[in-house]
Amino acid sequence: METPIEAICLDLDDTLWPISPVIRRAEQVTLDWLVVNYPDIASQLIQQDMQQRLASFTQSFPQYSHDMTHVRRSLLSALAVQGGHSSQVGEDAFEVFFEERNRVDLYLDVLPALAWLSARYPLVAVTNGNADLRMVGLDEFFVASVQAREVGTPKPQKKIFDVAVEKAGVPHAHILHVGDDPHTDVEGAREAGMQTAWVNRKAECWPANIAPPGLVVSDLEELSLRLGRAAGEDQ
Ligand SMILES: [Mg+2]
Repeated sequence: METPIEAICLDLDDTLWPISPVIRRAEQVTLDWLVVNYPDIASQLIQQDMQQRLASFTQSFPQYSHDMTHVRRSLLSALAVQGGHSSQVGEDAFEVFFEERNRVDLYLDVLPALAWLSARYPLVAVTNGNADLRMVGLDEFFVASVQAREVGTPKPQKKIFDVAVEKAGVPHAHILHVGDDPHTDVEGAREAGMQTAWVNRKAECWPANIAPPGLVVSDLEELSLRLGRAAGEDQ
């Protein structure tokens, strides 16, 4: 660590919990709800896979690609209206999805590490996704949460890191950004002037075309140990 760490920014999806199984389950639960309540809408969705529909929607409206809440809501509302229902039906279906999307299985190291880290540093969540920390049950550990959809631009762009830094209340160089994505998390945060830690849970190789992170850890337990050691704490 080059400069003492005074605050930590944390990515959420795939850093604190695996996201693919959550999205798959949430989409299935939404479909099941539609099958029971609005089978005509469900049949349209089953005919064309939901992921495909989302991809073509974001291709047509790239300005919303960082805002999956908007994309999913719009898709579900459009399907509802096409089927002769009110757009509120789409909103209701989105709420079903959103509740499931926030039902996550934390990696086992996460809760003890967040307790340790939050006792020592202000923690700010920085995400391109739409997880709601209160619904996930982790809001007690964080002083703030910054989402791409609120800022208007996603990681790796500097603006979202700047908003997080402002919420953390200390200068960029004194903040460690921690995340799983070499490009959006590590490269983005470094270019914003922050220190960086890569959470490499799957023992992947670092991409050759990106300058390496300040710190590489296999999980948040290792991150806590390394920070504690750097600060001269016995653990
Ligand atoms: Mg991530």
